[in-house]
Amino acid sequence: MAEKCQIIKTNVFASCETYNCLKRISWAIGRPDGPPQLHHYYCDDCMRDILASVPEELRPEPLYPEWHDGPMFHEPTPETEPIPEPTKSYPCKYCGEEFDSPTKIGSHTRYCEARKEAVANGET
Ligand SMILES: [Zn+2]
Ligand SMILES: [Zn+2]
Repeated sequence: MAEKCQIIKTNVFASCETYNCLKRISWAIGRPDGPPQLHHYYCDDCMRDILASVPEELRPEPLYPEWHDGPMFHEPTPETEPIPEPTKSYPCKYCGEEFDSPTKIGSHTRYCEARKEAVANGET
């Protein structure tokens, strides 16, 4: 069975075919069973540039879904996070400071300056 044209990793010592690029090749494009002189050779940098510039109509959809920005290729939107229960707060009824447990407000009230004042003024 004939091989398909593809990108082949190569370590042949030759320079990149890109105009003005003299880097050593890392990749060949062609059929692995075809004559090597008919392959196209690119360095790693140029190969990455080529892949980054693949026009939309050439992009293999199932392989690279992240290349598509259309809504149908997006990950399903995750369920909206459940809103966390608001932490119960126990505000001091004298000074307004809030505490997260009845124990804390209990011990606070004993020393609350605002309460002492209120008591001194006969407000309780
Ligand atoms: Zn190159
Ligand atoms: Zn208080």
